[in-house]
Amino acid sequence: MKNYELAKIFDEMGDILDFLGENPFRVRTYKRASQIIYGLSDDIEILFKSGKLAEIKGIGESILSKVEEFLKTGKIHNYEELKAKVPQGILELLNIPGIGPKGLKALYDNLHITNFDELIKACEDKLVQKLPGFGPKKEENILKGLLRTKEAVFRFPIGLVYEDVLNLLERVREIKGVKRAEVAGSFRRMKETIGDADIEVSGEDGAGIIKNFTQLDGIKEIISEGDTKGSVILHNGLQVDIRVVESGSFGACLQYFTGSKEHNVKLRGIAKEKGFKINEYGIFKGDKFIAGENEEDIYKTLGLIWIPPELREDKGEIELAQAGELEDILKELIDYDDIKGDVHCHSSYSDGGETIIAMAISAKRLGYEYIVITDHSQSLKIAKGLEIERLYKQWEEIDKINKSGELGNFKIFKGTEVDIKSDGALDYPDDVLKNIDFVIASIHSGFRESEQVITKRIIRAMENPYVTAIGHPTGRILNTRDPYNVNLIEIFKKAKETNTFLEINAYFDRLDLNDVNVRIAKEYGVKFVIGTDSHNTSQLKNIRFGIGQARRAMLIKGDVVNTHPLAEFEREIKNKRGAIC
Ligand SMILES: [Zn+2]
Ligand SMILES: [Zn+2]
Repeated sequence: MKNYELAKIFDEMGDILDFLGENPFRVRTYKRASQIIYGLSDDIEILFKSGKLAEIKGIGESILSKVEEFLKTGKIHNYEELKAKVPQGILELLNIPGIGPKGLKALYDNLHITNFDELIKACEDKLVQKLPGFGPKKEENILKGLLRTKEAVFRFPIGLVYEDVLNLLERVREIKGVKRAEVAGSFRRMKETIGDADIEVSGEDGAGIIKNFTQLDGIKEIISEGDTKGSVILHNGLQVDIRVVESGSFGACLQYFTGSKEHNVKLRGIAKEKGFKINEYGIFKGDKFIAGENEEDIYKTLGLIWIPPELREDKGEIELAQAGELEDILKELIDYDDIKGDVHCHSSYSDGGETIIAMAISAKRLGYEYIVITDHSQSLKIAKGLEIERLYKQWEEIDKINKSGELGNFKIFKGTEVDIKSDGALDYPDDVLKNIDFVIASIHSGFRESEQVITKRIIRAMENPYVTAIGHPTGRILNTRDPYNVNLIEIFKKAKETNTFLEINAYFDRLDLNDVNVRIAKEYGVKFVIGTDSHNTSQLKNIRFGIGQARRAMLIKGDVVNTHPLAEFEREIKNKRGAIC
């Protein structure tokens, strides 16, 4: 998929135009297109050819023609021209928190800054603080941001590369001589981010398999190819390593390279106690090979049941297996086909790219029984939040679709993602909220407030009887924004007390709450919903990443409200109102 490459190009075009002081409308067009393309789960090439890309709001003629040019030629002429207008090295500075294109322009004009090292030196020499609009505090923040970014190792959010890796795996399985193939590593464990992908293969003629592998579509560069191992880079920049082993070692190899390191260290300890030795070729007693073809046999030899990859973190899963308690948990563990409806979806009424009916039809195709449309509330102007009048219009449209029967038993719920304002008040009055089926309350402003203030804001929102759930409870965005300061324990206690659900936001840049927090919240008796925060139909599939988090946190089906079928879900979301009103 060329989605990520294109998203990066449009983002950069927006930055360059902004740096050059061009029309903000044009800047916004590119930034918006970049965001939309970044978030697509489907291959942009397929969406383009089928005409579906053109249907997404925010993708206009000028963007479409550039997408077409890139798909045909691998280049965008206009982008090359723009790049030539700015010094090389300056664009990467745009990703440093606290600078922005206007600030960067000032640094360039006054101090001739064109790259990372020059800016670090200028900060250290205290030159930056002397510029108008900067000051010592800002200089300090810029320097912090610079040093942090320089040290950070980029890891791909899993959703950004997921489809590509799955497609590649399918094609590996079709290579002549391949018997079994699986992706190992953090990809298989459904971690939030992945550094690279490892494909383990069993089969004959390793050299032939690897030769064929390096010729597959979607590969941009071959790093190495040997008799049993190979390495390539995909179009999206991800490195993929492949390893071919004999059939008898496939399970051991998969287990070994799936990790996590901590999980495997503990397993090796248990093996040692029992007089065994495990490595990537199998489990051995002395020199005698005991098993290795299937993962199950490795675990079984150690007296354990097979542990799903998402759980392999050494967070108690091995002890539970030893005590014989894991089996019952696994029977109830939330699975990828357990979700019955999406509870966090935007439509073109606010900043979504598609209509309500389009979102609903796609949700129904996923096998869902319902969807909740949760557009933004009135104050969030940047996302075209709905004034009350337009909210009423949306309700009319939802009622009409539901009554028409065109979706069968599938139901569209009236929802909102209402802003939690700076004092914790909500962005719609109670007499509006009470007529909304599902109210998600979220923080979209004032991220830098103190822990006390933010915690209070969310608690006040939960005290409102009409708030069903808290959206993305920590506000973090992977690789971009840290969580805001919030006392989660207070939030968990209040969520339990008020019967407010907490969201596991499955949008792959958020994954918020993450598994660690979900696990703690569960101990406080909290119930959850998993929502995708979809802004177009392509994103509905992201639900799998939220489920991955939930599985790692060992949530069972009953912990997640939208695993319930329609009637039960409807009852559950009324519970809080019944109790408080
Ligand atoms: Zn939100
Ligand atoms: Zn949202």
